[in-house]
Amino acid sequence: MKCPKCDFNQRRNDGMTCSKCKYEFVFDPKVDRLSGNTKITDNKMIHFLNLTSANNTLYFTAQQFKARIELYLHKMEKKARFISFIFAGILSAIILYFLSFPRRKAEGNIFIFMLCIPVFLILLNAVHKSIRGRIRIADDHIKSLLQRWKNAGNPVPFLIDKPRLHKPPATPGFDDIYDYGVERLLIVQRDELVDLFVLNQWHTQNKTLVLAESGYPNYLNKQAREVLQKDPDLPVFLLHDATRSGMMMAQRVQKLPWIELKEHRVVDVGLSYNDVAKIKRLGRKKNDLTAHVDNIPYMMLASGLGTALVGGLAFADLLEKPEDFGPMDFG
Ligand SMILES: [Zn+2]
Repeated sequence: MKCPKCDFNQRRNDGMTCSKCKYEFVFDPKVDRLSGNTKITDNKMIHFLNLTSANNTLYFTAQQFKARIELYLHKMEKKARFISFIFAGILSAIILYFLSFPRRKAEGNIFIFMLCIPVFLILLNAVHKSIRGRIRIADDHIKSLLQRWKNAGNPVPFLIDKPRLHKPPATPGFDDIYDYGVERLLIVQRDELVDLFVLNQWHTQNKTLVLAESGYPNYLNKQAREVLQKDPDLPVFLLHDATRSGMMMAQRVQKLPWIELKEHRVVDVGLSYNDVAKIKRLGRKKNDLTAHVDNIPYMMLASGLGTALVGGLAFADLLEKPEDFGPMDFG
């Protein structure tokens, strides 16, 4: 394992402390896994954190971090599938060769060749079964990896692990949306999505007042009611996950205790299961099309959502460009 501090190539058998610079490794390649047999190392952790936060310039949620790792696992899976295909082909050819050895008649060989096709398919299926399912990571596992990393003394300041905008910001500049003028209201399903859009300044760039379904941040409830009263045509957008609860959001918002929406135009731009099936980068199989809004990389989410709100376009259609996986070498 390579030391992230001094680049020294430490042998695991020499312990979890870098022999050269005394750096304490957090993740043990002997036991710690991302998923299946895929190891997590300190260098990989740093790499994924840098990718998700765009080198500490963007705030991000644990779901975004998870999605970034799942993209990597997805790529690894593709590689493994390719190797297994070659492997099964070579093995089938060897079997074919030995089975056909005693016979030299062409008809017999064709018969054995036909027999080899199911052998090839069975082998391939067995390898694929062992790979399948490894590209998804449980939310708890991601949280525990992040927690261990932080507990070891590595701060992750751009991680939104709990909502932090309960009070009006003390520093001017964070909440100057009224200087820009509010052109629309966005109600998001989860509190941390408010933080994602506000801390990354998406709300001011898009002149959008962002609140969660729960009413968070409560100090903005009054302003939200006021802008709707002032302009009855002000559009209201809903952003939710492709989950059972997300699908019910449009019904729930009609009975919110902190705002009355009945008279207003409410447009649902949330993720549907159909959208998830279309967004290839999410790598979802047909039998599980659940996904969170923030499983979409921030830059795509931010620009896609902005365009969707202005142009009234379908959200998923804006997100179908092929994904750039970025460099994946960890040394
Ligand atoms: Zn070192």
